Amino acid sequence: MRFYFLTRNRIIYESAMNKNSELKRYLRHLKFKENEWENLCIKCGACCGAYDDPCRHLKKSGNNKFHCRIYSNRLGTRKTVGGEEFDCVLVKEIMHTYWKNDCLCACKKYLKMPLSRKKNA
Ligand code: SF4
Ligand code: SF4
Repeated sequence: MRFYFLTRNRIIYESAMNKNSELKRYLRHLKFKENEWENLCIKCGACCGAYDDPCRHLKKSGNNKFHCRIYSNRLGTRKTVGGEEFDCVLVKEIMHTYWKNDCLCACKKYLKMPLSRKKNA
């Protein structure tokens, strides 16, 4: 009987460890994908309203690129310079929507690219 419990606990333990390593692999994959998208972004600022009513946290740099002043804490309710409230979300969640000058967005361009070209991009 004791042997049974030891074996069962071991199986539970090993299965938890396997699940844990699957979870770790999955989280690593998500991080990898997030970095892939981050690297595509050319910091044109269009998705943060640079060519419209910009977000109050958007900052233009000397090289004509835009940066978010609160990037690591950006998600949530924010306001534009004009005082309009909106939700700052991950850009992948708004890829299917329109914003002013979204034709500049390198991520959108990448999405529209045929698979054969994506492999060489
Ligand atoms: S808070 Fe969001 S919308 Fe505002 S600048 Fe940062 S990333 Fe852009
Ligand atoms: S519109 Fe696209 S390329 Fe421009 S800052 Fe936003 S995510 Fe980056």
